[in-house]
Amino acid sequence: MDCIFCKIIAGEIPCFKLHEDDETLAFMDINPANEGHALVIPKEHSTDVHAISESAIAATVLTAKKIASAIQETLGPDGINLVQCNGPGAAQSVLHFHMHVLPRREGDELKLNWGLKPGDMDAIGALAERVRAKL
Ligand code: AMP
Ligand code: ZN
Repeated sequence: MDCIFCKIIAGEIPCFKLHEDDETLAFMDINPANEGHALVIPKEHSTDVHAISESAIAATVLTAKKIASAIQETLGPDGINLVQCNGPGAAQSVLHFHMHVLPRREGDELKLNWGLKPGDMDAIGALAERVRAKL
């Protein structure tokens, strides 16, 4: 399979490894949006949040927590985003599920924050009902 993250797991492509266990691997992003930008991936290949198994996503989130704490201690950022993209509309560029651990600095102006604009409560309530029906 032509998956760059599977190749990193297999050791065919190098990475700046932070952590490895039976289910996950964490390494530095080589195109960092900010200093300390890291990635956490499950070893089990799946493309996105829809395809990943419950055990793989659970393991990935636990490792992301571990990495976030280490980055917090190392760099002391003002905040950390845990970001995860699915599909072209969300700008997913690598089709192997991954979580970004993204340190933030006040005023860094990374385009992740959409601000707070009150929504239409009737529309929000109606949509919540439609989503609940699918759970
Ligand atoms: P996304 O756009 O959410 O799919 O994120 C994919 C991320 O993988 C990007 O931030 C890339 O910089 C990163 N990336 C791609 N190839 C590598 C690599 N070989 N080593 C480390 N990070 C990579
Ligand atoms: Zn893969």
